[in-house]
Amino acid sequence: MTKIAPQPGIMDIAPYQGGAAHVEGIANAVKLSSNENPYGPSDAARDAFRKAAFDLHRYPSPDHGALRRAIADVHGLDPDRIICGAGSDEIISFLCQAYAGPGEDVVHTEHGFGMYRISALANGANPVEAPERERVTDVDAILAACTDATRLVFVANPNNPTGTMVGEAELARLADNLPDRALLVLDGAYAEYVEGYDGGAALVEARENVVMTRTFSKLYGLGGLRIGWGYGPAHVLDALNRVRGPFNLSTAALAAAEAAVRDTAWVEKCRADNTRLRAWLAEALAEHGVPSDTSTANFILARFASQAEAEACDEHLKSEGLIVRRVAGYNLPNCLRITVGDESSCRRVAHAVGQFMKVAR
Ligand SMILES: *Cc1c(COP(=O)(O)O)cnc(C)c1O
Repeated sequence: MTKIAPQPGIMDIAPYQGGAAHVEGIANAVKLSSNENPYGPSDAARDAFRKAAFDLHRYPSPDHGALRRAIADVHGLDPDRIICGAGSDEIISFLCQAYAGPGEDVVHTEHGFGMYRISALANGANPVEAPERERVTDVDAILAACTDATRLVFVANPNNPTGTMVGEAELARLADNLPDRALLVLDGAYAEYVEGYDGGAALVEARENVVMTRTFSKLYGLGGLRIGWGYGPAHVLDALNRVRGPFNLSTAALAAAEAAVRDTAWVEKCRADNTRLRAWLAEALAEHGVPSDTSTANFILARFASQAEAEACDEHLKSEGLIVRRVAGYNLPNCLRITVGDESSCRRVAHAVGQFMKVAR
């Protein structure tokens, strides 16, 4: 028997389950399982990526200066307190590396994003789950889950996979009442979909214990490039930048993201389309007897009568070439998470769910 063993916690990690991309026997299935932008990135981002092909022999910028300035310009932030990573997943990982270790707690919400737990365990910390109230973040439950051992509190707002969100006053109350050594992380992966929402930037500005994470993977349509960013108080950025490798982002990713963030017209077009089609899809599913909470993101959490019904509907959708996401792993066995695709995808999903429900009940 080998005596070689990984660090405590590592073997407790259940590997992350990504959204399926293919259905056996069906060419060109529609992928609605990973909350990707159905239209892809802006043309400006594609052009910047192509141009980067001429510089592939050069190491990338180690400080991401141009991208941080672009983000700061567009969002009205301080570029010195922005950090960029290989997806916001890498920012989550930096936060856990820098702030959470053995004997310490990382609090996340009941139906929170799976990477919080994985990152906590990877660093030897204990993930602690705070209950939600009817699939909505419950600030009192989070505060009740906090102790002197709490180092990080992750709240996705809007949350994935529920699509629900809480208001800024609730988030401020949470930040105000956390234990002294706990840092609140507001995961704004879907913030762009909420008109007028700053993702928590104002809370970061007003406090020493709040960090915001953002991504180019969802509305910006750059999931394949792996790029995200974080914003926080200077003392946190000082710690995170010591953990970050100097060349964690490729030249192509930096260039595409810079063009993407500056193309605010594309952001507005995608947000407006999503808002319209999301309302249409939710209404269509409700008419077929499948309710969902009011979503503020680019997906809908469709609720069925039972796990068996949700799984049977998933099988039917698959047979129609439509790939959605089962969320039993998020403690939502009777639900399916459906990304808001383009108009034809939304119509196909609504039609297929309607067909299924006629036979199911
Ligand atoms: C998709 C997602 C992310 C991160 O994705 P990256 O591609 O790593 O930027 C982070 N948080 C939530 C809640 C998400 O849904």
